[in-house]
Amino acid sequence: MDQEFIVQLKAQLRGELIEPTDAGYEEARKVYNAMISRKPRLIVKCADVADVIAAVHFGQQHSLKVSIRGGGHNAGGLGVCDDGLVIDLSRINYVHVDPSTKTVRAGSGCTWADMDHATHAFGLAVPSGIISTTGVGGLTLGGGMGHLTRQYGLTIDNLLAADVVLADGSFVVASAKEDPELFWAIRGGGGNFGVVTSFLFQAHPVQTVCAGPMLWEMEQAEDIMKWYRQFIVGAPQELNGFFAFLTVPPGPPFPEALHFKKMCGLIWCYNGPQETANDLLKPLRNFRPPAFEFFAPMPFPMLQSMFDGLYPPGLQWYWKADFVKELSDPAVALHIAHGSQLPTLHSTMHLYPINGAAHRVGNADTPWAYRDALWSQVIVGVDPDPANAERITGWARNYWEALHPFSAGGAYINFMMEGEGEDRIRATYGDNYQRLARLKAKYDPANFFRVNQNIHPDAAAKASG
Ligand SMILES: Cc1cc2nc3c(=O)[nH]c(=O)nc-3n(C[C@H](O)[C@H](O)[C@H](O)COP(=O)(O)OP(=O)(O)OC[C@H]3O[C@@H](n4cnc5c(N)ncnc54)[C@H](O)[C@@H]3O)c2cc1C
Repeated sequence: MDQEFIVQLKAQLRGELIEPTDAGYEEARKVYNAMISRKPRLIVKCADVADVIAAVHFGQQHSLKVSIRGGGHNAGGLGVCDDGLVIDLSRINYVHVDPSTKTVRAGSGCTWADMDHATHAFGLAVPSGIISTTGVGGLTLGGGMGHLTRQYGLTIDNLLAADVVLADGSFVVASAKEDPELFWAIRGGGGNFGVVTSFLFQAHPVQTVCAGPMLWEMEQAEDIMKWYRQFIVGAPQELNGFFAFLTVPPGPPFPEALHFKKMCGLIWCYNGPQETANDLLKPLRNFRPPAFEFFAPMPFPMLQSMFDGLYPPGLQWYWKADFVKELSDPAVALHIAHGSQLPTLHSTMHLYPINGAAHRVGNADTPWAYRDALWSQVIVGVDPDPANAERITGWARNYWEALHPFSAGGAYINFMMEGEGEDRIRATYGDNYQRLARLKAKYDPANFFRVNQNIHPDAAAKASG
């Protein structure tokens, strides 16, 4: 590319333009998953919406592959691309809370730590995930589930509006009133439809929660899984709890006797008084007293950042996921067979409940087509050492292959690696896929935004022809 064009782009930006020869390039191209190493031609660290518009026009004029980067956490590293242009939003990271309407406007470069910090001061929170370093952008556009899902729904269920720069560089607002079709598509359709520059959310009263993990010996995993599968379906919506296979980290608050032990656990979040939480969990404590528990009242941001230290950026990650409608006895047995063989300290399997408030929305109301599923299951091989990449990948694949026949078909789009194939994306969107493809053909007919779990615009033509 002619250097003259790059100089022209630089002159248009308030933010920074980073090229491979620049000092900041190596740092800027890194994403959270160190298994991913891509080398873009240009990285635009946008300072504002005008920068995003300039970057989109530049990408179009020079027919560049373009990726959109929010928090850089995507499993498949979809925030970064080889030889193309990265639209990096991390500098657009303001949060404005309106306590009178309990609404929150967030710039698309925010992490959930930025959000939680800002909303907590007002006794509010927006439902998100379980790790505070994750980006608001990617998590929201894929759906978003975490500690508040059962009470307040998925993150997309709390999205009121979004500012979007489309593939032709035009700026639109998407909400229930303005451009409702685009608003439908972005609530689960990922980064297929444009660059979202800000999000407007409905927040909810969340201040101190009673939360934390309870752990049991692996020998009790069958009892705990079977108890949990029944309990969580009927539990009050203020209570969230996800199941995990994990290895106990070697440090506080865990007792030394449990360090490095493979165990199973339930990680709770109750948005209410401690006495009620204890009443709800009394049957479980009586049934199988936990080997260890760290369940206590804490500020919500403390829960949100509880696992950040265990999972810093720069580890190797390999993910395999599915939606699950039923946790049958044979599935429980297979879970234990594979879950008890966690290959490394950081590897884990989580079953996130996606019932409760998330079930109040219909399958066709947003692209998230599995409102009738009970869990979102994710198997993640994780380790700091690249030499273990094959080991963690092999374990996660074998585990997934054993359990996939018991799944509902598709998977949470944000828990997929790159290149899982169109069939997996179709299975995930189910009956909503054709509508998404039609909207993709309308908003991005040339598939300019294709570094994502891609919905190809041609899929709409194929279906109608
Ligand atoms: C440690 C860890 C824990 C996680 N826990 C949870 C969890 O509890 N719940 C949950 O729901 N998910 C969770 N996730 C998955 C997470 O939702 C996805 O990884 C998500 O893609 C991260 O968003 P990001 O902005 O950080 O990603 P990025 O890598 O920056 O972006 C990913 C993709 O999202 C799209 N995108 C991002 N921002 C924009 C934007 N502003 N406009 C248009 N497109 C955009 C683009 O297609 C981009 O390629 C977790 C991920 C990790 C690594």
